[in-house]
Amino acid sequence: MSKKTEKHVYLFGDGKAEGNATMKNLLGGKGANLAEMNLIGVPVPPGFTVTTEVCTTYNEKGREYAIAQIKAEVEDAVRQVEEIMGTKFGDKVNPCLLSVRSGARASMPGMMDTVLNLGLNDEAVEGIAKKSGNERFAWDSYRRFVQMYGDVVMDMKPASKEEEDPFEVIIDELKEEKKVEKDTDLTTDDLKEMVRRFKAAVKKVTGQDFPTNPWDQLWGSVMAVFDSWMNDRAIVYRRLNNIPAEWGTAVNVQAMVFGNMGDNSATGVAFTRDAGTGENIFNGEYLINAQGEDVVAGIRTPQQITLEGAKRWAKLQNISEKERAANFPSLEEAMPVVYKELFDTQEKLENHYKDMQDLEFTIQDGKLWLLQTRNGKRTGAAMVKIAMDLVREKKISKREALLRQEPNKLDELLHPVFDKVALEEAVVLAQGLPASPGAATGQIVFHADEAEEWAEKGHKIILVRIETSPEDLAGMHVAEGILTARGGMTSHAAVVARGMGKCCVSGAGTAKINYKTRTLTAAGKTFKEGDWISLNGSTGEVYEGQIKTIDPEVSGDFGELMDLTNKYAKMLVRTNADTPHDAEVARAFGAQGIGLTRTEHMFFEGERIVAMREMILAEDVDGRKEALKKLLPMQRADFEGIFEAMHDLPVTVRLLDPPLHEFVPHDEKGQKEMAKVMGVTPEHIKAKVEELSEFNPMLGHRGCRLGNTYPEISETQARAIIEAALNLKKRGIVAKPEIMIPLTGTLKEMKMQEDIVRSTIAKVFEERNDSIDHMVGTMIEVPRAALTADEIATSAEFFSFGTNDLTQMTFGYSRDDAGKFLKVYLDKGILKVDPFQELDQEGVGQLIKIACEKGRKTRPNIKIGICGEHGGDPSSVEFCHTLGFNYVSCSPFRVPIARLAAAQASVKEEAAKKACKAAKASKKSAKKDKKKKKK
Ligand code: PEP
Ligand code: MG
Repeated sequence: MSKKTEKHVYLFGDGKAEGNATMKNLLGGKGANLAEMNLIGVPVPPGFTVTTEVCTTYNEKGREYAIAQIKAEVEDAVRQVEEIMGTKFGDKVNPCLLSVRSGARASMPGMMDTVLNLGLNDEAVEGIAKKSGNERFAWDSYRRFVQMYGDVVMDMKPASKEEEDPFEVIIDELKEEKKVEKDTDLTTDDLKEMVRRFKAAVKKVTGQDFPTNPWDQLWGSVMAVFDSWMNDRAIVYRRLNNIPAEWGTAVNVQAMVFGNMGDNSATGVAFTRDAGTGENIFNGEYLINAQGEDVVAGIRTPQQITLEGAKRWAKLQNISEKERAANFPSLEEAMPVVYKELFDTQEKLENHYKDMQDLEFTIQDGKLWLLQTRNGKRTGAAMVKIAMDLVREKKISKREALLRQEPNKLDELLHPVFDKVALEEAVVLAQGLPASPGAATGQIVFHADEAEEWAEKGHKIILVRIETSPEDLAGMHVAEGILTARGGMTSHAAVVARGMGKCCVSGAGTAKINYKTRTLTAAGKTFKEGDWISLNGSTGEVYEGQIKTIDPEVSGDFGELMDLTNKYAKMLVRTNADTPHDAEVARAFGAQGIGLTRTEHMFFEGERIVAMREMILAEDVDGRKEALKKLLPMQRADFEGIFEAMHDLPVTVRLLDPPLHEFVPHDEKGQKEMAKVMGVTPEHIKAKVEELSEFNPMLGHRGCRLGNTYPEISETQARAIIEAALNLKKRGIVAKPEIMIPLTGTLKEMKMQEDIVRSTIAKVFEERNDSIDHMVGTMIEVPRAALTADEIATSAEFFSFGTNDLTQMTFGYSRDDAGKFLKVYLDKGILKVDPFQELDQEGVGQLIKIACEKGRKTRPNIKIGICGEHGGDPSSVEFCHTLGFNYVSCSPFRVPIARLAAAQASVKEEAAKKACKAAKASKKSAKKDKKKKKK
């Protein structure tokens, strides 16, 4: 465990700060940046940050202990805020109001709790009313505070979707009584009545009075923010984003500034570049006379900050320029002076952080305050474009651009888009905002928890909501796309979907959603739960029905980024491909060879399965050979196709691996059909199927065990591979076959296969009077093979780690059955990640390390690769790099991800080596200085 710091509270304000941007671990992202903004002269309301370590202490030792630990420091900090603001906490005349916000190391937008307007009570509200000269504003702030505090600190938030927020019920009742539609139509007296009713509700529900002492309010809020680190949605978010629970959250307490003080006040969210496309254009949304939560809650339609943004928005919404200018003016038009300051500030911040920033700001009575800056979440496309633009603008290096990429986010660039022809026929139902790009097609589901159930049953779903909230996170995660009727580009749905790289259309106001009847009505048509719709997250269009999608093309900035990966990566990236088409797709993505061709996939189509079944049914070697003769030309043609697609690059072909029962039908109907084709009785087939059945087929008669019991299978495949390569040679095409033996466990098993393969190859060379370069190697999938890799390397010219099987056998988790308990294991924290997705470096990794060391002892330049699913997983790719692998191999669409991960691993290693060298040099010079001094 790391050593804990003695200091627990860090102050900032008035251009000074005790923290800075490098202290994210201790102060959280928000706290570190609030400090940093002060240091670079950006206007930030003064305040202080309670460290993440206090959260951990709170979780371990409880409330009393945590408060005792920080009490004196917090009291001192509040005093300093009072001094800067010229106000007094708890004062009747000139009260200091505070905001209390969470802020973890990694951004977790909307997952934890916030309390605003803290410090208000029946007396302070009068003080605020007098001071601001705006009684309505004072009471509006007070009623918001009581509701927020009641929900967050006093636990009155509804626990289920059926329950209603008691405060919302009161608001609705009051509006009905007063016969008004909007909150803003309520008078000051109405708001006073609302506060009275709110407090009565607090007493009724909790049995406690609403706390009037500001210090009680402050401690309650700070502890509630710590509690929210452990709320369900934060836990789900952490799991999805691999954020450890031990990190804890910091708490940021700041002087309140108000965006709802009248028409000269506003609040908003802005991005220094477009988070969806990466375009270098300042953009964002704001609301006049509103508090922060109004912008993201999707209750009021926010306006655009820039004039250009406002014009683009109006075009999308089909609003005339006249109407836009009158009803939806940009901040640039409405408050030109503050806008200019905001524009300059965003430039300053981006230049300082050298990355796209996501800002929150408030304008109080014409004065601009920045409440937050952070590196903005962005789509995969924006991630690539922004980094490459920053390289061109000479703001970051090429290496930095590589490190800025999240490899898995590249997926978004590689996902299908709508087929143009199919799209021409499609019927547009509604137009919303292009909140998160991509194309999605799926069945409508209205509730997040039900979305999970539908997805679990294998349905592709579109989550359709009036608006989303953090409670909907898990449902959003499983959806193909998200559609909301309300909310702008910075609404919860939009921000979260972009972060997830998920297609989202927000604010499709003409679509009417009814949760009760579970219907979506748009363009005069009504759609039920389960009906199909399609979304274009890049244009904001919502379509009726299912629409065909096509694969995207790789070009532009993405191509440049991929070129960079080639420049820096040490490992090659191959692909797992069984057909010429897959090989071509992978090659277009930059695959540098094939690391695994699973030949069994070639035995299913058309006549092949008949010949295969003939071989399985054969009673003796001769019968099998007869059947294999029929398979030979088909296999050879398949290999020719693949070798041609991968000309000049190595192609690893694996000999038959799965147990034979996979090639015969297990149902009566299928068996009858097979009997008819084979000219035997159904009973005969049934008996054969029973004979082939095994208790544990994954550990049974498969891999090289098949080839060693039926050598003629390996013989035929080796012949097909080499004949195909020689045929291509004749046509002037270079094939580089690498023949791979699956599931080797002992040297003898390997050697026997090697002998069969090599003698067959020798025969073919003799028959053809020709030859070709080739290799014979093995997969390392069985723990014993890893442990005896020195022996196996005497026979194998290369190793390819089959980490799917190696994980299965090391954990003893069946690949077929693990799904039943893995989710529970992940939920209970028994496993941190699914080891079939992310390589278990501690356990399986040890076997890999041993195998590499032992293999290299026997054959120093032995070629080493990986072809299990982990070959496309970034952290596993990095692990392979550290062990000096020659290549990783993964499915075609993961090739760019693996290339990026491989390049990042090299860049990181280079940087670590440099740092190590620098540390050594400074140690040496320090020693020299010491010696000199002694002399
Ligand atoms: C493996 O086991 O990792 C592998 C690539 O082989 P398969 O998935 O075909 O068993
Ligand atoms: Mg395997």
